[in-house]
Amino acid sequence: RFIAFEGGEGVGKSTQAKRLVEALANRGIDALLTREPGGTTGAEMIRKLLLEPPGTGWRVQAEAMLFAAARSDHVAKAIKPALMAGRWVVCDRFVLSSRAYQGLAGGLGDEEVRTLHQIGSGGLLPCRTFLLEAPGDDVAERLRKRDGDEVDAIGGRDARYHADVARGFAGLAQDDDTIIQIDASGSADAVHEAVMRELAPLLVG
Ligand code: C5P
Repeated sequence: RFIAFEGGEGVGKSTQAKRLVEALANRGIDALLTREPGGTTGAEMIRKLLLEPPGTGWRVQAEAMLFAAARSDHVAKAIKPALMAGRWVVCDRFVLSSRAYQGLAGGLGDEEVRTLHQIGSGGLLPCRTFLLEAPGDDVAERLRKRDGDEVDAIGGRDARYHADVARGFAGLAQDDDTIIQIDASGSADAVHEAVMRELAPLLVG
């Protein structure tokens, strides 16, 4: 089983991914906890190229290819081997982020991002994607607590870009019933419970 958590900045994806892996472990299910961009040595190197200041100001085409290259390494060397070994994989961000950030908010186009994903990772998709959604103000507050005044690791992208990302995610969720939208404005416990309720059918037998 391959599960992804998606959403904008500071909605609690990492916390929820970790909580899910712990809950699976309590049920005797071994899961790989991983994240994007990253998850392998090569992909973590690409993460640095994308996120570590001073940013080079990648054009969106290059940015999308770097994310796709990182994902290609991650899928081939970490995700697929774990799935083949019968483990679950819980990933903090996956291709839906590329579609919402570079494809829609960045203006590259959804087809282009999907083509890159097909080339890089054979089009592999999670069986469930949890899209954590919270009103913009909540997110800004969480980010201030976490990162001080830094709102975006990539830099140079304003609140409007992030509003476009949120709208992009929501629109993509409409066309895909493997994407489950979860209200992330509640407590971490409440969000975790909602995730576990959705996964209950996968946990029997
Ligand atoms: O999830 P995390 O906060 O680690 O993401 C790191 C950064 O990468 C965030 O600033 C996010 O906006 C950015 N990102 C992006 N495009 C993606 C995935 C992440 O711009 N496809």
